[in-house]
Amino acid sequence: MASIPTATVGRLVTYLRALAELEEEQSEKTSSDELARRAQVSAFQVRKDLAYCGRFGTRGSGYQVAVLVRELRRVLGLTRPWHVAIMGMGRLGQALADYPNFDQYDFLLRGAFDADARKVGMVVGSMTVAHVDALPEAVTRDAIDLAFLTVPAGAAQSAADALIAAGVRGILNFAPTMIDVPDGVRVEPVDFLAGLQRLTFHMGARASEAAVSP
Ligand code: NAD
Repeated sequence: MASIPTATVGRLVTYLRALAELEEEQSEKTSSDELARRAQVSAFQVRKDLAYCGRFGTRGSGYQVAVLVRELRRVLGLTRPWHVAIMGMGRLGQALADYPNFDQYDFLLRGAFDADARKVGMVVGSMTVAHVDALPEAVTRDAIDLAFLTVPAGAAQSAADALIAAGVRGILNFAPTMIDVPDGVRVEPVDFLAGLQRLTFHMGARASEAAVSP
């Protein structure tokens, strides 16, 4: 499983979303062409990506939606609920805590932590903010697996270290900085600003194309 390329993992997530749409439409079967259209990739790419997950298509007759969903969920580790904490209960942390739909995807918010004593006791969504000192006990008690890291960039490494020391093994890092983690811990960056900068690159390229065209 470890040999599945990261780019493929990203597309498997997209296929799973496409399959959820198909389930909603009560389609029992699908094809690589259909998944390709919905995921905006080629059918060749779909077949290549799905080949990493096992053999469940029959040549010419496509895939059973339910079987594919089950297999993709297994490959993506989505066969059980994951307990998630939020580290840093400022603007972004509070917005995430208020989002009501994570549990629909089996990501269960189980803790909210901040270093600022003035935030402690604040109720956001279904959680009461606790001080970071309570983290080790809470991670064990509430079996917290993952964390959203929503602290300022300058505090990201020390906050990540505290999460890891407490036993958290997966961090979704919203702070615009790289963090170092030991083997066995995974960090996924979420970077709105980088997304905007990629957009401006493409907008800029289009603007300069327009400027040179007659
Ligand atoms: P904020 O200042 O409103 O909140 C940060 C919170 O972190 C505060 O409550 C602070 O007390 C707490 N904190 C500081 N050090 C801590 C520590 N060591 N342990 C626990 N809590 C600690 O900031 P914000 O606007 O919510 O942004 C949070 C982070 O998300 C920043 O790094 C910001 O740059 C980033 N951000 C990222 C994106 C993105 O696209 N990734 C978008 C917006 C904000």
